[in-house]
Amino acid sequence: MLGPRYKYDAKPIIKLNGLQMSMKKQIESKIQQGHYKTERVNCIICGEGDFEQLSEKDRFGLVASVVICRECGLIQTNPRLSQESYNEFYNDEFTKLIFGRERTTQDLFFDQYFHGQKICKYLKGSLPKELKDLFILEVGCAAGGILAYFRDLGCSVSGMDLGQEAVDFGRKKYNLDLQVGALADCKLNRKPDIIIMSHILEHLLNPIQELERARALLDEKGFMYIEVPGIRNLGRAQYDLNFLHFLQIPHTDHFSLTTLTNLLNKTGFECVRGNEMVRSIFRITKDRVLCRNNYKAALSYLRRMELLRKYLPITPFKIRYIFEVASCWLLKRTGVYKFTRGIYRKMIKRTEPKK
Ligand SMILES: [Zn+2]
Repeated sequence: MLGPRYKYDAKPIIKLNGLQMSMKKQIESKIQQGHYKTERVNCIICGEGDFEQLSEKDRFGLVASVVICRECGLIQTNPRLSQESYNEFYNDEFTKLIFGRERTTQDLFFDQYFHGQKICKYLKGSLPKELKDLFILEVGCAAGGILAYFRDLGCSVSGMDLGQEAVDFGRKKYNLDLQVGALADCKLNRKPDIIIMSHILEHLLNPIQELERARALLDEKGFMYIEVPGIRNLGRAQYDLNFLHFLQIPHTDHFSLTTLTNLLNKTGFECVRGNEMVRSIFRITKDRVLCRNNYKAALSYLRRMELLRKYLPITPFKIRYIFEVASCWLLKRTGVYKFTRGIYRKMIKRTEPKK
């Protein structure tokens, strides 16, 4: 274990509102009654079963056995909930627990649209073709906000997601080409030049299978754009050097750029570039790339962060976070936030279908 504070005590690390507390209780009772079932699996990257325990809980104070694989260094939740239990969790508790409120699909769409802008900025310089000639497929696209941004730039876009409601919203309101389903059911007329997976892989119980399907679909000169929360990004204000802030029950794998690259290498991709946020671009390769053992590096990074927390109780990141929250409050209070959001809404309006 990384330290005594990682022992399971049911106490949350972050402040939870009433809705989150009731979701936490609901999940705990389902786990205690054996309604939510767990399963122990071998490491998805190296296939071995030699793990070292790092934590017994997540940021909500929910029981979560987080371990690191001694063979390859992948940090993972193991044992983890079974697929059936996760399906129910995503239907009943996920949104309320993570966001502390019901999020409207419209809000999510706007957030995604501006996220699309960031992705586009990152991709520039590595695009296989001119923007207007690109065909982009997004897996786990929700209402399709990211795709709407790329469509505004002239790209052809298509998306898929398991959530019927979000897909209907993107189709009807923004006239996007979205399908309900997984990659296994995906039917396309042409091969995508870019496949986007933004914050998807860390939720999947079988990411290898999903990546193999993506590889079969992707144009041979195309790219995969993959984004996951980065384990070596604990210096970010929202994590505040605290590994426990990073952990949450819906995430089954906790990647660094190295372990994500190991996973992609295993499925026939090589890294074009990436950072520890993690944002990354991969392309198809026929060469077999060897898995790099990240065990020692990952463990020493986490221990270093624990030491830093000990000697820096008020971290520069905490100060930045307080400053950010205060400015946000001020912007909302003075109406500036509402005003700028209104301008953005007008900008996005052009993506709405003509009546
Ligand atoms: Zn492993």
